[in-house]
Amino acid sequence: MTLAELLPTYRRSLPEKLPAAIWPDAAEAMPSGDVAVSGVSLTEVAERFGTPSYVLDVQTVRYRCRAYRALDAEIAYAGKAFLCRRMARLIAEEGLSLDVCSGGELATAAAAGFPAERILLHGNAKTDLELRAAARAGVGRVVIDSVAEVDRLVGPQDVLVRVTPGIDGHTHRAVATGVEDQKFGSSLAGGQAAAVVARVLSRPELRLVGLHCHLGSQIAGVTGYEEAVRRLVAFLADIAVRHGVALPQLNLGGGHAVAYRPGDASFNLSGFAARIPRVLGFECRKHGLVPPRLTLEPGRAIVARAGVTLYRVVTVKHTSTRTYVAVDGGFSDNPRPELYDSRYTARLVGRAGDVQKRSMRVVGRHCEAGDVLIPDVQLPSDIRAGDLLAVPCTGAYHHSMASTYNLVPRPPVLAIDDGAVEAWIRRETEADLLHRDIA
Ligand SMILES: *Cc1c(COP(=O)(O)O)cnc(C)c1O
Repeated sequence: MTLAELLPTYRRSLPEKLPAAIWPDAAEAMPSGDVAVSGVSLTEVAERFGTPSYVLDVQTVRYRCRAYRALDAEIAYAGKAFLCRRMARLIAEEGLSLDVCSGGELATAAAAGFPAERILLHGNAKTDLELRAAARAGVGRVVIDSVAEVDRLVGPQDVLVRVTPGIDGHTHRAVATGVEDQKFGSSLAGGQAAAVVARVLSRPELRLVGLHCHLGSQIAGVTGYEEAVRRLVAFLADIAVRHGVALPQLNLGGGHAVAYRPGDASFNLSGFAARIPRVLGFECRKHGLVPPRLTLEPGRAIVARAGVTLYRVVTVKHTSTRTYVAVDGGFSDNPRPELYDSRYTARLVGRAGDVQKRSMRVVGRHCEAGDVLIPDVQLPSDIRAGDLLAVPCTGAYHHSMASTYNLVPRPPVLAIDDGAVEAWIRRETEADLLHRDIA
């Protein structure tokens, strides 16, 4: 029997542990009910910087980068998950490459001094402006999405061809990008991918260095990637026979799942590390090919768990059916529940709270009935206006997807590193909003 079980009052004073699968590495529950990240109190962060705010634990980002760097592969962070100059610099320091998919992401990477040769440009509708900016910046690789794009590229340029392998990653349809009949890539089965390859090889100023595929997002299992390796290696073999070229790179994209709530499945990274190189080796031997170098493009798996969003409870409403906890953010700082039916959890921060928990609905402040952050979560029954709520696992696709809907300014990104907090992106102000509005 533990001390906590013997003495109910002792248990009452013990903070509930933070589930490690969804909180930052440096986060710790304090006896006061507060949560500290690298020793920095989230209550104090909220008081100093206001709410809503995105907090980012830099240590978690570093450790996730290192976990991926331990694999025998090039790791290209998918900047669309979260990018700013400081993030780009951190990614560069950790030795990763960087995926960008717009002129804005490219400009941010360039402004951070990110090494251009380690940048990959993606996109199914790259504009001429973006293609020229990429050429000017000296972007290392452009990932070609369709045959029409080939003639629009500015050479000399190393390129990959994005292939739709016809694999269902068993994920939400909004993020399933490996299946046939969708806007990304060129179909393997339909022969369009082969046509893109032939077209690229007909332009001597383009150097075809490999193939790319991206199965989708929030994929936990490894079997989809194994099948992708089989199909893409067969295609590499076909290219070698038809054109006499051996392509040195195979990019398997990202999409590695993270847990948003305790018990959610996350990506089997060790299974991936154990199985994929073996499958690659086996398939290449079968076709008499030298195994290409793998590139992986994790976004969410690098940065999601590093992030926590802090909200202030504005009002608590009890109806005959449920309790609504309305906070000072919502759809504009997290559209994912609405877009993908994503589910989160929340925790009261800053006071112990009633031990009795009840099911409640956490809603945002926007003029949409669908602005529900968490449809059903257990929170202390004495939750009240002024309380601070923390929603973990919000480091990826939160700031990058934020909008100013209802002209609500976007929250800051507050990085905590080695016991200190500092804004990487400051809070947007009403003056910022008016700045673009020409009277
Ligand atoms: C979105 C995207 C990624 C990253 O996806 P995650 O789910 O964040 O890992 C990687 N590669 C491409 C081409 C993408 O579009």
